[in-house]
Amino acid sequence: MKRPLLEAIQERPLLGDGAMGTQLMFAGLEQGSCGEAWNLTHPDRVLAIQRRYAEAGSDCILTNTFGGSRIMLNRHGKMDNAVEINRAAVAIARQAFGDRDGYVIGDVGPFGGLLEPYGDFTEQQVRDAFNEQAQALVDAGADAIIIETQTSLEELTLGIRAAKEAGAACVIGSMAYDVTLDGSTFRTMMGVNPEQAAARMVELGADVVALNCGTGMDMARAREAVLRYRSVTDLPVMAQPNAGLPKLVQMKVVYDETPQDMVQGVVPLLAAGANIVGACCGSTPDHIRAFRAAIDEYIARQGAPSSVAAKN
Ligand SMILES: [Zn+2]
Repeated sequence: MKRPLLEAIQERPLLGDGAMGTQLMFAGLEQGSCGEAWNLTHPDRVLAIQRRYAEAGSDCILTNTFGGSRIMLNRHGKMDNAVEINRAAVAIARQAFGDRDGYVIGDVGPFGGLLEPYGDFTEQQVRDAFNEQAQALVDAGADAIIIETQTSLEELTLGIRAAKEAGAACVIGSMAYDVTLDGSTFRTMMGVNPEQAAARMVELGADVVALNCGTGMDMARAREAVLRYRSVTDLPVMAQPNAGLPKLVQMKVVYDETPQDMVQGVVPLLAAGANIVGACCGSTPDHIRAFRAAIDEYIARQGAPSSVAAKN
């Protein structure tokens, strides 16, 4: 029987996956259309992407449900399919691992608006949407729930509470930081710093504190964030930075960090205390394959049992 995710990360660091959004575009998803609906209409294409991550060595795969809350789906008139879309996503990610044990992390992204009084959404609407999504992901068998790309403590709180109420075995809170203009530090768009985010997550009973995406948050900045998390909590840490900054080349958004660039930051991240390392926007199965090699080498050097080191 597979050990729970939280036990596994006590034993060795785990590898996450890479970008989904950019991969969906490569697979033919048009800009602005609903990638989550593909869990029902083109499950084969979603599976093909996640299989490439599994083959590259990912231990954890996020479900294709970033915009899978009913508020996000409503933009595409797919609100009534929310439960179905989230359930299907878990099954696809599970299938991607084949007969290998892997961890399916149910992905809950931002609801895509602002809460009252700044925006039009009531707390209750957002709570209902997150509850529904988290419950569907847990009921379908997700090993964990990640509340990701979060910028406000209010929304983070609603997401983590929803995941806990849904009975998730592991709840991950993941913030998106932006490097400040003068380059001296980083915080979320809503002004939240890593210490504040980690303190709130501890208070809410999250199991893993994380960061993903963001602007200017390269592997070195991600390492700083891990250290800052570590300075306020002993909870496990997860990091999924972007593959550099987006650039517009021939009307297409491309990310400028190659697997060779990014992999340099993997061991420093692990040494800083990251328990799960993956990547966000712009990263590819090639990035993840490079990470796999670096993590395996790191594990081998740490003198992990040979059965673990030889597994991949
Ligand atoms: Zn991203």
